[in-house]
Amino acid sequence: MKEIILCKYGEIALKGLNKSTFESMMMKSIRRRLKKFGEINITRAQSTVYVEPVDENIDVDEVVDRLSKIFGIIKLCRCCVVEKTMDAILNDSIEYIREDMEAARTFKVDAKRSDKKFPFKSPDICNELGGKLLETFPHLSVDVHKPDVTVTVEVREKYAFIHAGKLDGAGGIPVGSSGKAMLLLSGGIDSPVAGYMMSKRGAVIDAIHFEAPPYTSERAKQKVEKLAKKMTEYCGDIAFYCVPFTEIQETLRDKCPEELFTILMRRLMMEIAQRIAAREGCQALITGESLGQVASQTMYAMVCTDAVCRIPVFRPCVGLDKTEIIDISRKIDTFETSILPYEDCCTVFTPKHPKTRPELGAVEAAQARVDWEELIQKAVGQTTCKMIKLD
Ligand code: ATP
Ligand code: MG
Repeated sequence: MKEIILCKYGEIALKGLNKSTFESMMMKSIRRRLKKFGEINITRAQSTVYVEPVDENIDVDEVVDRLSKIFGIIKLCRCCVVEKTMDAILNDSIEYIREDMEAARTFKVDAKRSDKKFPFKSPDICNELGGKLLETFPHLSVDVHKPDVTVTVEVREKYAFIHAGKLDGAGGIPVGSSGKAMLLLSGGIDSPVAGYMMSKRGAVIDAIHFEAPPYTSERAKQKVEKLAKKMTEYCGDIAFYCVPFTEIQETLRDKCPEELFTILMRRLMMEIAQRIAAREGCQALITGESLGQVASQTMYAMVCTDAVCRIPVFRPCVGLDKTEIIDISRKIDTFETSILPYEDCCTVFTPKHPKTRPELGAVEAAQARVDWEELIQKAVGQTTCKMIKLD
C-alpha cells in the first residue's frame, strides 16, 4: 500500500518573519538525511512537510526512523494514501490501521478537507468512517474526548491520507538555525549528550578531541570517532578535530603543582579549542560538564576555566543528574559506546587530591611558570581534521 509521512513543525510554526528561513533549513536537513534512500518527493504546505517515497523498494520504517531524528519536526504521521472517494476512504484504509484499532478500546475520527470540492463535508466523513470502524471492530466504542486512538482523514488535492496516530518527532529547531559551536568531545557519556542538546537548539556541531599517545590508544580515539558518527544521525555531518596533547600534559606534570594539574589542563584545552573554534567560524564552545560531578566541575573550578575563554562556553548538562544524562544517552544510542573501557587524556596523570576550590590567582600564577605559547601553537598546528559523515 502506498504510504506518505506528514511531518508537523514544532516551534518553527511560531516564528514570525523568519519562519521561511527556518523552513528552508529544515527542508535542507530532510533532503540531506533522506538522500540515501532513493527517489522521495519532499514538499511542504501549511506547516507540514510531505515525504512521499516514490520508489517501491524504499523501506518506510527506515525513512520514519531517520525523520524522527531531525530537529524541527515535532510529530510524524505515517499515513496510507487512498483514492479520493468515500468508498476508498471507507474500505481501503481498514487493513492499514487494523493493528491500532485492535489494540484500542475507544476511538474517534477526525476529518480535514482541504479540498473543498470533495462532495462530502468533514462531519459526513467522520460519521461514515466511524460507523464502518464500529461495524468492523465491534469491541470499539467512540470517545470524542479522550480516545485511545484518533483516526485522521485528510482529503487533499489528489488523494486522501489516513492514519491512526502520531509518532513523536525530535522536537527542537532545525540544525543550522543557531550558529556553529565546537564541542569538546571525550569518550565519556556526557559530552555526546551535550552536543545532542545544543544541536537540538539549532547549533551546527564541530567536535574537538584531545589525545595523549602513547598514554591514550588509537582504539580510544576510534571510540570517540564512533560516538561522533552516532551523533551525526541527529546533528548531521561533523568536522572532527583531534589535538595531540601529550607534550602539554607532560610539561604540566613536570612543572606545575600536582593539585592544580586538572584545572590547568582544562584551561589549556579551552585555549586550544577556542583558537580552532575561531579559525573554523564557531561562535561558542560546548562541554559535557555537570555541576559538582567531579573536582573540575565545581563552580570554583568553572570560574578558573572560563577565565581563559573569550567566547561563551555552553554546558547544557550542567543542571542534569548523571541518571538523567544516561537516559538521554540511551535514547540517542551513544551509551553503549560511551561505556567501553578506554582511557581518556583526562585520566592520565590525574592528581590524588585535586583542588575542588581552586583560587584564580593561584591558578594563574602556577600557569605562568611555563611559557605555553609555543606548545599551544604546536598543538594547534598539528591538529588533524576529519569529516564524520552521516551515511
Ligand atoms: P564525559 O562523560 O563527557 O567524558 P566526564 O564526566 O568524564 O564527561 P571530564 O572528564 O571531567 O568529565 O570532562 C568534562 C568535559 O570536558 C567533557 O564532558 C568534555 O566536554 C571535555 N573533555 C574531557 N576530556 C576530553 C578530551 N579528551 N577531549 C575533548 N574534550 C574532553
Ligand atoms: Mg570524560
